Amino acid sequence: MRWENLTDGSAGDQARDAALFGTDVVTTRTFDTPEFRGITFHEIRARSIINRVPGASRMPFEWTVNPYRGCTHACVYCFARKTHSYLDLDTGIGFDTQIVVKVNAPELLRRQLASRRWHGDHIAMGTNVDCYQRAEGRYRLMPGIISALTDHANPFSILTKGTLILRDLDLLCRAAAVTDIGVSVSVGFTDHELWRTVEPGTPAPERRLDVVRTLSEHGIGCGVLMAPVIPFLGDHPDQLRATVRAIAASGATSVTPLVLHLRPGAREWFMAWLGQHHPHLVPRYGRLYAEGAYAPKWYQRRITRQVHEFAEEFGIGPSRARAARRIPVPEPVPEPVAGPTQLTLL
Ligand code: SF4
Repeated sequence: MRWENLTDGSAGDQARDAALFGTDVVTTRTFDTPEFRGITFHEIRARSIINRVPGASRMPFEWTVNPYRGCTHACVYCFARKTHSYLDLDTGIGFDTQIVVKVNAPELLRRQLASRRWHGDHIAMGTNVDCYQRAEGRYRLMPGIISALTDHANPFSILTKGTLILRDLDLLCRAAAVTDIGVSVSVGFTDHELWRTVEPGTPAPERRLDVVRTLSEHGIGCGVLMAPVIPFLGDHPDQLRATVRAIAASGATSVTPLVLHLRPGAREWFMAWLGQHHPHLVPRYGRLYAEGAYAPKWYQRRITRQVHEFAEEFGIGPSRARAARRIPVPEPVPEPVAGPTQLTLL
């Protein structure tokens, strides 16, 4: 392993980075191991860690904890890309390779959970960027976070594409014994060619479904967010059917389809990828997303109906009301206020 300080350490550098990340201390590191080659980590000590979701009334949760910003899973369509621009970082390759790590997240969370101002509401994780991305293998923030939530019997949910969550299986079982927890895994398709190009940093879809299987075997019910369903590349009925069949076989408690949305930040990056890999589809996408970030309602309804039909065929329910509340779906991209820690309220 090699530790490298990318700045010259001058007071000017530190002041600039501190202002950029809205925090007092920023340390920049790289690790010279194959899995982290080309990735820069910006370690910060956040001032606050529990975030209120803007427009929470439309979301199934109000509070989130996000120990990372940026994501090495590098999904081309990732809606969170825009948040990197608030840090003056690139929303394309920069989002995949410049990772902000809130190294004090566990201790800070423990302190905030103990605050008289905190009332024990549900906390969703993995709704902005993946808390079990590869960086978590090194920084190990989630064990401390789960332990803090468990010690306060605070309900929480996790959405992830990362198989690393199984490292914390014992902690999750311990949490489930004292509070209400929900785990959801995101698998939009099982097509390997599509996976390799559009989600290049993620574990294979079947490995993610192994996570669902293992969690279920240990008594932790796990839903699957079938997201995103990618128009013209992953939406053929045969593809939808194969994906739902695999999800059902994994023992998932529910399947919830979500069609690709292309908000600013993600849209430019995704369309550039589309032009490179599937140029003939560019005009069709232009028409399908002519109204903005979302595919038309008729298209969304068609996908939902088909997925529900396949779910019935394979004996897996779509999300029920209670289960749906526990499936964290991606949160709206917050407007830039100042820095990552200043979006918080506690
Ligand atoms: S795993 Fe989630 S947060 Fe990470 S790049 Fe993919 S969509 Fe974005």
